Amino acid sequence: MPLERLLQSQGFGSRKEARGLIEAGRVRVDGLPCRRPEQAFDAAGLVLEVDGTAWPWREQLYLALHKPAGFECSRTPQHHASVFSLLPAHFVARGVQAVGRLDADTTGLLLLTDDGAFNHGLASPKRHIPKTYRVTAKHALTDELLARLLAGVQLHDEPAPLAALACRRLDETVLEITIDQGKYHQVKRMVAAAGNRVEALHRTGMGEVQLGAGCLAGLAEGQWCELDQTALALLR
Ligand code: URA
Repeated sequence: MPLERLLQSQGFGSRKEARGLIEAGRVRVDGLPCRRPEQAFDAAGLVLEVDGTAWPWREQLYLALHKPAGFECSRTPQHHASVFSLLPAHFVARGVQAVGRLDADTTGLLLLTDDGAFNHGLASPKRHIPKTYRVTAKHALTDELLARLLAGVQLHDEPAPLAALACRRLDETVLEITIDQGKYHQVKRMVAAAGNRVEALHRTGMGEVQLGAGCLAGLAEGQWCELDQTALALLR
C-alpha cells in the first residue's frame, strides 16, 4: 500500500495531509526516513514513525484506558473533558468508541475500539459479560444489604429486579460487586435501592480482563494501553 494511504488508514489526516507529513520529512518507516508518498509497503508488521514517535501499523485498535474521575465518555462532553482527550489524536480520528460508558465520576477500566462488531458483541446484553466494580459506600455495609443486592433490587424504570452476580465486602464501607448488565447508573441505583449510597465507584474488570493484571499491570490512572492477544482472547 502507498505510504500516504498507510498513514491515512492509521488516522494521520486526509491523504493530502498524510502526503504533507511525508514530504516534510516527518515520517520514518521501520526506522528509515521516507519522503516519497507513493512508495509502497506491506502493512503487516510495519512501524510508522511520525515526528519521532513510533506506531506499529494496526488494522483495528483495541485499547484499555484507566479512566480518571472528571472525564465523560462522550465525544461531545457537557460538563467535563472527554476521555478521548486522553488518547492520541490519530486514534480518535480513526473513530475509536468506548465499549459502554462510565459516569464522569467513575474511575477504572474502560475499553475502546474502532472494531464495531467487537464493541457491539461486548456491549450486547446477550453476552452477559460480567463487570466488576469496587464501591466505596457512605454507610457501613450490612449483611442485609449484600443479601438484597444478590437477591435483586427493583429499580423504578426496570420491568424486573436486577441482581448482582457476586457481592463481597472488602472493608466496612468497601464492596466488590459484579453485574452482567449495563443499565444507566446501575451500580449506584442498585446500592441506593438496597439502602446505602455510593460515594466512589471504580471498575476493576470486564470479563476476565482486570486492571492491574496481564497487559494492564501497572496501567496508571489516565494512561491507556493496547490489549494484547491474551486479553483479546478472553473477551472474544
Ligand atoms: N454503574 C454506575 O452507577 N455508574 C457507572 O459508571 C458504571 C456502573
